[in-house]
Amino acid sequence: MHCPFCRHTDSRVVDSRVQEEGTVIRRRRQCPECGRRFGTVETATLSVIKRSGATEPFSRDKVISGARKACQGRPVSDAQLQILAQQVEESIRSLGQAEVDAHEVGLAILEPLRCLDEVAYLRFASVYQAFDSLEDFEAAIALLRAEQDAQQPAPEGMA
Ligand SMILES: [Zn+2]
Repeated sequence: MHCPFCRHTDSRVVDSRVQEEGTVIRRRRQCPECGRRFGTVETATLSVIKRSGATEPFSRDKVISGARKACQGRPVSDAQLQILAQQVEESIRSLGQAEVDAHEVGLAILEPLRCLDEVAYLRFASVYQAFDSLEDFEAAIALLRAEQDAQQPAPEGMA
């Protein structure tokens, strides 16, 4: 890293700080030539491969706008969507790949969206998984019901 003040070609790290759940590293550097300090930010790259084959940087904003469409008229706040986008980014980054398919991003949205709002989840899944009949909705709803039942504590005397 070149010194931004005197253009010296070397600098040394005096402090490193990991932020944003480990995806961003901020460093304080000092120039051995002029002694001035400056900061740098390192971000691990994460690209999304679109259906067209083009790649673009992963964007939480895109995750939010996609999920927000499914949440229209539902009691889901912007703050909840922010958290959802963070969860999506964390699960995508945990794959440990520099590039992921747009399809995987969509899959990563489904699970946290289901926890937020089941109607929004069904809307998103219907578009994303290309539901084309009532049977597809029925199957998805049956799955939600089965999971809800599994979470209910057993009634008294039945355990
Ligand atoms: Zn310098």
